[in-house]
Amino acid sequence: MAKSEFIIEVNHVSKQFEDGKFALDDVSLQVKKGEFVTILGPSGCGKTTLLRCIAGFQVASSGDILLKGEDVTKTPPYQRPVNTVFQKYALFPHLNVFNNVAFGLKLKKEAPEVIKKKVRQALKMANLTGYEERKVDTLSGGQQQRVAIARAIVNKPEVLLLDEPLSALDLKMRHDMQIELKELHEKLGITFIYVTHDQEEALTLSDRVVVMNEGKIQQIGTPTDIYNEPQNCFVADFIGESNILSGTMIRDYRVEFCGQEFDCIDAGFGEDNPVDVVIRPEDIYIWRTSPQPSPQERGNGLSEQEDVDPEDRIPKGKFTKWYGEVQSCIFKGVHYEMRVLTPDKYEFLIQDYHEFLPGTEVGMLVRPEDIQIMKKEHYIWNYFEGEVLKNGKVWFLDAEWEVDEKQLEGLEAGEKVQVRVKFRDIDLQDYEEEGKLSGEVHFILFKGNHYHLTIRTDEGHDLYVNTNDVWDDGDRVGIVINPKHIRIDKLKMEN
Ligand code: ATP
Repeated sequence: MAKSEFIIEVNHVSKQFEDGKFALDDVSLQVKKGEFVTILGPSGCGKTTLLRCIAGFQVASSGDILLKGEDVTKTPPYQRPVNTVFQKYALFPHLNVFNNVAFGLKLKKEAPEVIKKKVRQALKMANLTGYEERKVDTLSGGQQQRVAIARAIVNKPEVLLLDEPLSALDLKMRHDMQIELKELHEKLGITFIYVTHDQEEALTLSDRVVVMNEGKIQQIGTPTDIYNEPQNCFVADFIGESNILSGTMIRDYRVEFCGQEFDCIDAGFGEDNPVDVVIRPEDIYIWRTSPQPSPQERGNGLSEQEDVDPEDRIPKGKFTKWYGEVQSCIFKGVHYEMRVLTPDKYEFLIQDYHEFLPGTEVGMLVRPEDIQIMKKEHYIWNYFEGEVLKNGKVWFLDAEWEVDEKQLEGLEAGEKVQVRVKFRDIDLQDYEEEGKLSGEVHFILFKGNHYHLTIRTDEGHDLYVNTNDVWDDGDRVGIVINPKHIRIDKLKMEN
């Protein structure tokens, strides 16, 4: 059999726990020898479960896992050519650094001189030479993590699995350790699979990033692919800051959003089709169109800012421009971050090295190559499966709903139907008991002039809601749908 070009192959792996929940849902991933691959996603998305399935601490419910071309789906961890560095370092507090690293080798009864040589090499790799005699509880968090890494690499595994190894460290230490890990990867030349929920860490460290959400892979790509060409709103929103707007692809290379048409470089979305548009805040050029407020008007005692000459910074050419007023301006260390509101009430997040104070009227433009177009995952309507009840109501979302009589014309009790409700027509109440159903705000996307929410009902159904009201992730809500907004469609007969 030809040897696989991949060191790790995860094929259609699902993992269901006893409570019926899927932590992994049909996950497939191939990793080449020597790659640094990061699994990135929010808490609970299944990152650790995937890593544990590769390590062998958890067995997939379906699908298979191959290491070096061999099926290891049911092979115990110690028989796999991998080693894991855990989030909590799991060191032995009563042992010194040397003995912590040597522990596994001693268990395997390796010769003392071999152990000494291997431990010394591993400590050198982990920048811990000279720490052999130190008790681990006298070490800093970063040093303890290096001991855990030294222990994991002492046996020269072919794959190193790292589960949020830097999460317990402060920011500065994390940055230092990131650089060390990258160097270690280069020195060792082995495959690293790294789990994190920190997108900056993922983009900095990896050859490729696997973005996960709710047990599913959302996108796999290089850091620049993931950042510049997110494939869906989840990825665009999760990775970095972004402006995400609803738009219409008018034809190839021409898109409309916030009431204006723009040239873009995308094709293949058809004509007059709804799309989502992503623009990164640093890709919007901004310049003043009104006189700057004087220091007295500003009243904040700041020195008068330099006059920014748009001619120098703003690309020349036939670009669509749009206009607005700065609402807020925050200094972020290297750049300023401004929120700009257009007369049509679209809000844009913009980053620039120049400061534009609140109240300033500004012009904006974006280059066609910086407009990212994505297929819309859902549009205007929620669709649910329903059934007409004897009492003239309709059963959907695990509840009985009153509907407009006209909607039931030509339908019989017991008939299965399709139910539609517009995103705009679902009302959310502060008090869950005021709703027919209750649920939780599960995902929030700001779309420039409104919020697009995913509400998960307590029965586990997802529904989409467009609203101008501000909600937080995890807010409990009551769900109300006025009968006049419920559309019932007869199901088409299948041939
Ligand atoms: P975090 O970043 O918070 O560690 P994660 O992305 O690593 O999260 P997992 O630990 O893989 O997420 O968990 C995925 C889902 O599976 C979660 O909803 C979790 O509660 C659930 N889960 C994990 N282990 C078990 C288990 N042994 N039994 C039941 N459910 C589990």
